[in-house]
Amino acid sequence: MSYVSEVYAELERKHANEAEFLEAVKRILESLQPIVDANEELYRRNALLERFVEPERIITFRVPWTDDKGVNHINLGYRVQFNSAIGPYKGGLRFHPSVTQSILKFLGMEQILKNSLTGLPIGGGKGGADFDPHGKSDAEVMRFCQSFMTELYKYIGKDVDVPAGDIGVGGREVAYMYGQYKRITNLYEGVLTGKGLSFGGSLARPEATGYGLIYIVDEMVRTAGRELAGKTVVISGSGNVAQYATEKAQQLGAKVVTLSDSDGYIYDPDGIRLDIVKEIKQVRRGRIREYLEAVPTAKYVEGERPWGIRCDIALPCATQNEINGTQAGQLIKNGCWCVAEGANMPSDAAAVDAFLAAKILYMPGKAANAGGVAVSALEMSQNSERLSWSFEEVDGKLREIMVNIYRNVSETAARYGYEGNFVVGANIAGFEKVSNAMIAQGLV
Ligand code: GLU
Repeated sequence: MSYVSEVYAELERKHANEAEFLEAVKRILESLQPIVDANEELYRRNALLERFVEPERIITFRVPWTDDKGVNHINLGYRVQFNSAIGPYKGGLRFHPSVTQSILKFLGMEQILKNSLTGLPIGGGKGGADFDPHGKSDAEVMRFCQSFMTELYKYIGKDVDVPAGDIGVGGREVAYMYGQYKRITNLYEGVLTGKGLSFGGSLARPEATGYGLIYIVDEMVRTAGRELAGKTVVISGSGNVAQYATEKAQQLGAKVVTLSDSDGYIYDPDGIRLDIVKEIKQVRRGRIREYLEAVPTAKYVEGERPWGIRCDIALPCATQNEINGTQAGQLIKNGCWCVAEGANMPSDAAAVDAFLAAKILYMPGKAANAGGVAVSALEMSQNSERLSWSFEEVDGKLREIMVNIYRNVSETAARYGYEGNFVVGANIAGFEKVSNAMIAQGLV
């Protein structure tokens, strides 16, 4: 048995009930095969892969809170501190009913490689709770966030572990958690990123994941001798990533025609009106179907995702496994020639295989959506030096980081004989730095 298969078989035995995590590890290990083959003896001697697939630490705790009617609830809270070889644990918190330890381990594993790709000194972590913020009052969300932080504060710190947002955790939740951390510890430190501008947040952080996605798409498309201007773009999701990807794509002259939420998608052939979407999502916290109240010429398709709409470029920005093999085939058949992932692992294994087989430009999430965590790391730097940089400065650095990620991923793929395969390129490029640090630091 190959080293990769041995490690995977052992992991499957130990964590048989963690389907999402096992699937993610399998896909990552498979694409690391070329670098493992080249270094097998060294890696085995250092138990490198065995260590790479096990989190350094997982904290699980209960989160008690009381709703507005006085009824008590208990949710499950987690922080997966996966890998600190190249920096303090860094990664978002997800509040969603689907959150389990398996999902957070899969996201944590992705985060290690993504954070490494940014070129900044951040390790990998992820956390969250099976709490659903939808339909909850501000006061309920505040009490939940305070209770969550009352347990989590013991394990985090500006040089230890720096959480941020993810699905269900935005500026409001980060602010409530920051307030509670400060109250308990009496420390005014950059322990969370994605904070408000008046208390240590970075300019361009809300925009960063979406803008970064378009910056890497722009670089990839231009390298292939094409351009974004005039192209039709299909986007899924309507949260922070989808909104700012739409904004930047439109600024660069592309036409975005869809957005979605978990209920369905909107199709506006005239181009999405982002001001309306921002009002629905950021002000009213409403559903995407409400777009039709303002733009009656648009279409709303209940219960479906937008992958049947003809486009040049598809940007999945909602959640994991939102494109399957059939839908990927449909996109390709309709002429889509570029896919880049704003969400974490939105394409399932069959979809990725379809994109690679069709040899379209395909940039996986750990590279394409790294702009968010990259600007989080820039927020950490600003907090440490007690300064705030201008929007232009942060945005300029973000752009440079995304261009560097593209070059690194593409050069690494070519160096291992997989030219144009950015899955292999991203996984190996991310892994190289982490594995070197792990080996240098000895058996820890
Ligand atoms: N949740 C985001 C991600 O998946 C951002 C994490 C962060 O800023 O720490 O990368």
